[in-house]
Amino acid sequence: MNRKDLLGLYDLSAEEIEEILTLGLSYKAALKRGEKEHSALKGRSVITLFYENSTRTRTSFELAAKFLGAKVVSISVATSSVQKGETLVDTGKTLDAMKNDVIVIRHPMGGAPKLLADTVKAHVVNGGDGMNEHPTQALLDMLTLKEHLGSIKGLKVAILGDIRHSRVAKSNLYGLTKLGAEVRLFGPKTLLPEGLEREGAIVCSSREEAVKGADAVMGLRIQLERQKAGNFPSLGEFAKYYGVDEQVLSHAKKGALVLHPGPVNRGVELSSGVIDGAQSHIEDQVLSGLAVRMSVLSLLGKEERA
Ligand code: ASP
Repeated sequence: MNRKDLLGLYDLSAEEIEEILTLGLSYKAALKRGEKEHSALKGRSVITLFYENSTRTRTSFELAAKFLGAKVVSISVATSSVQKGETLVDTGKTLDAMKNDVIVIRHPMGGAPKLLADTVKAHVVNGGDGMNEHPTQALLDMLTLKEHLGSIKGLKVAILGDIRHSRVAKSNLYGLTKLGAEVRLFGPKTLLPEGLEREGAIVCSSREEAVKGADAVMGLRIQLERQKAGNFPSLGEFAKYYGVDEQVLSHAKKGALVLHPGPVNRGVELSSGVIDGAQSHIEDQVLSGLAVRMSVLSLLGKEERA
């Protein structure tokens, strides 16, 4: 891969995605063997700059960078100069002046990582920007599928829930379709934006239609923090009409993988039985996340910063 930044899967070619997944699979195998010491980023520095809450993404990027031998600094926006009114660009320039090599940014505004990438010399990795993209989440989902099902091409993947507010759904749609999967989307009409078909999605009119014969079923978190108006009556009703329980899952292919980016609203997007059931790969996704972030950081960070 020969690019400065990873901003989204919309921009990547199928070959670039395959390259990230192939290296990610080898890092995952190494992690399973207990190998955590690598040298791909020895002598480099990585800063995480998260303007939104996160547990798994931030920890995963920081561990990935450390396992690759980088020096890692984590900026807590709540106690940084951002609170004194510093702009994103000025923060980026300050970090650049310290000769830092990689910035991982999460921001509530779609497009913020691009703005930063255009103004700093460091490599920029998008750790989730508003409702736009969350590329490493989709890459980890694809890595999990590839590991268990062999190839993404020809897979049927059902994604259910709050599609409108989900950067995970968008990145998965771009990435999975580029690799030749069929992506089916379903959720309340109010949470299904127009134009998804133009991006290659199949928009379904029932849970059963979305899930029928699917190789994988992904639930998405209801993004309560991004809901201005009530787009559905109540969480109970969402679970009843749009959630995935064992009965809905029985329409998928036997042994279909159940995925969820986390954090899960237990009993809303997925029933507890499905979350804890044999088909659930939610914990395995977390290890895939670490591996795929090691892959992304080592592929980008091996190039000298601009
Ligand atoms: N963790 C994912 C994200 O940051 C999914 C979620 O929060 O619902 O987008």
